[in-house]
Amino acid sequence: RITAELLSRWVHEFGALVSVHHDRLNALDAAIGDADHGTNLDRGFTVVAAGLPTAPQRPGDLIRHVGRTVVSNVGGAAGPLFGTFFVCLGDAIGNDPALDTRRFALGLRAGLAGVVARGRAEPGDKTLYDVLAPAVDAIDAAALAQYDLPDVFHAGLLAASAGRDSTIDMLARKGRASYLGERSVGHLDPGATSACLLFTAATLSVT
Ligand code: ADP
Ligand code: MG
Ligand code: MG
Repeated sequence: RITAELLSRWVHEFGALVSVHHDRLNALDAAIGDADHGTNLDRGFTVVAAGLPTAPQRPGDLIRHVGRTVVSNVGGAAGPLFGTFFVCLGDAIGNDPALDTRRFALGLRAGLAGVVARGRAEPGDKTLYDVLAPAVDAIDAAALAQYDLPDVFHAGLLAASAGRDSTIDMLARKGRASYLGERSVGHLDPGATSACLLFTAATLSVT
């Protein structure tokens, strides 16, 4: 069972990881963008983390609240994309306290659909999508196979990490990095790297 308390821990862990990786995310963005990805996310998730103690304590309400806070406090392309991910996740999981992994996996898929609706990313465009899509598939499959929660999240993290690394060889077709054309090849995508931290945070929140 996934509780609001666990979801709150997940978001908190993600904020902590973003803060630790702030400079590295900026450096990745410096290579193929404008060097602000770590700063954008860190600023927003500092606000999110500060609001967690007073945030709504039902699963859907909590995650929707997080999403709205991200949309209004994270700059750049990443703000609306990460924010939409959380808002759509919150809408899909609803407020049933007996949230199981299967329903959570469906929620993550709704979050991914929200990202696609907003940014039109396709597989291989070198974006968040290339992490979220394989991670959601892996979590969905593990939930369906009735793995325990830590194993479900671990499966998600493995797929997310592979997805992140797969962006190195990709040519960017969305966002700022796409202006570089062939010169975007050979670099990790910053958004894919931060999206992978969502799944690191998920494993940390259950251990
Ligand atoms: P900005 O480019 O506005 O400075 P950020 O640096 O915060 O925004 O975020 C850049 C990241 O956003 C990229 O690394 C990429 O993963 C992601 N991104 C950009 N455009 C899209 C899109 N249309 N769909 C999905 N992800 C995208
Ligand atoms: Mg940037
Ligand atoms: Mg920017």
